Amino acid sequence: MQNIYNLTLKDFEDYFVNRKEKKFRATQVFEWLYRKRVTSFQEMTNLKKEVLEDLEQNFMMSTIQIVKVEEDTDVQKYLFSLKDSEKVEAVLMNHDYGNSVCISTQVGCNMGCKFCESGRLKKVRNLETHEMVEQLLEIEKYCKTRISHVVVMGIGEPFDNYDNLVKFIEIINNDHGIALGSRHITVSTCGVVPKILEFSHLPYQVNLAISLHAPTNELRNQIMPINKAYPLEVLMDALKKYIEKTNRRVTFEYILLSGINDKREHAELLAGLVRGMNCYINLIPYNETNNIDFKRSKKETILEFYDILKKNKINATIRREFGSKISAACGQLRSKKEEYDEIILYDRHGESKRS
Ligand code: SAH
Repeated sequence: MQNIYNLTLKDFEDYFVNRKEKKFRATQVFEWLYRKRVTSFQEMTNLKKEVLEDLEQNFMMSTIQIVKVEEDTDVQKYLFSLKDSEKVEAVLMNHDYGNSVCISTQVGCNMGCKFCESGRLKKVRNLETHEMVEQLLEIEKYCKTRISHVVVMGIGEPFDNYDNLVKFIEIINNDHGIALGSRHITVSTCGVVPKILEFSHLPYQVNLAISLHAPTNELRNQIMPINKAYPLEVLMDALKKYIEKTNRRVTFEYILLSGINDKREHAELLAGLVRGMNCYINLIPYNETNNIDFKRSKKETILEFYDILKKNKINATIRREFGSKISAACGQLRSKKEEYDEIILYDRHGESKRS
């Protein structure tokens, strides 16, 4: 049985047309799901009995559940249990411009970035589209607020689950539903070049972020194995094509790791690497994990790195920090899943209750 949150509006249209039903049924169902947020077919009161029965026979509704919430100032981290009991997480951040939610795309990750917790647990499977959509729906329901921005930067490599990712974007962007503006959606990749090129052909104005983290192949090879498949010159070439095609600015994420990639020479090399590109660099203070090989750079080092980029006339920002107290770095909540001492169970129809 299909999950109903896997379907784009177009999928619903095809479904109804195939059943010799009116095409506008598709919009009706879509609006029930995403505007009125019904949780059962019976609530779709403007549909004929036969249509309802047919939907009920062919589709199931929500399958994911919040099993743990950790809170800190301006940030909440959610741990979800999936239908096969696998766990993923999402983080909600309150900004002055709205709320953004960071969505996971896979159970685990195979990219193997040395500093990242997500990769400690290898990929078990891709998330289905509905599991991405549901992370958003469940968080909105739990915190009774509207999410204005989505960043696809949770557990997993989104471009290693490309087709489901694109359907997710189509669903949350569609005007008849959540209608999240494509400029409010950001996808982050460690640099899967063929998919970057494919992404440039999409009809949406979605933001693209690249986890760069090193300005030379030598260093990037050491911390990000993907660089061996798609070295910097190949990545940069693809990004230049992406920018040419979309006319959009690319974001580079650069985590500052003490003594590894945070020296003055790295800043100069980084400036040289991106010079002339329509881009900006987001410097990210490393969220320390149990991995003792990586430490956060000192504040002065981060500021000095930033100054060098600025002197080179490179657009740069230092990322505001969220949730270093609540292990908000990717995969940190899931990787300590044995420690559910105080699980907050969220029951789908009512309040939170502690177990
Ligand atoms: N696989 C995708 C998206 C998930 S990671 C990607 O690589 O872009 C999202 C971002 O968080 C990446 O830039 C990643 O390198 C970064 N990240 C991972 N662990 C982190 C940590 N402990 N502290 C800060 N950022 C981290």
